[in-house]
Order: sequence, then C-alpha cells, then structure tokens
Amino acid sequence: MGHKYDPGDARRRRLLSRRLHEIEERLETVERRADRLENTLQGVVREATSVSLGGPCRCGESLLIVRRQTIYCPQCQYRRTI
Ligand SMILES: [Zn+2]
Repeated sequence: MGHKYDPGDARRRRLLSRRLHEIEERLETVERRADRLENTLQGVVREATSVSLGGPCRCGESLLIVRRQTIYCPQCQYRRTI
C-alpha cells in the first residue's frame, strides 16, 4: 500500500497552508489590537480616580466596571451594589 501521487491532494495541501498562513496573520493583527486596547483601557482607568475594572462579566462581552458602590457590565444588564 504505497502512497499514490494525487495532484489534487497536493493542490489542496497548498491551498490549506496558504489559508493557515492568512489565518495566522489575522490572528496576529487581532492580538496586537487587543493588547493595544487593553493597554489603553488600563491607562484610562489609572487616570480615572473613581473607576476601576473587575474581572470578565458572565456574559463574556466585557470586563466589569466598578464605580462608586456599584459593579456593572456596560454590555448586559448585570449590576450589583457592593
Ligand atoms: Zn455582561
């Protein structure tokens, strides 16, 4: 049972490796953007004396914001007094 040469197979492999390369590049772009936003957000929070950040909200869409006696999510309805 030797491996049979299949030109269609080689073409599919080339196509897959090109797509993988594209996905890697997009992932790098998205990671850079996320890091940049996180750094910016931390800088903004440092400037704002009455605001701090909590962990991720259960909705998964945002971090929680802590302000005065309230912890809340800017994306969903979650809000709690502490
Ligand atoms: Zn939420």
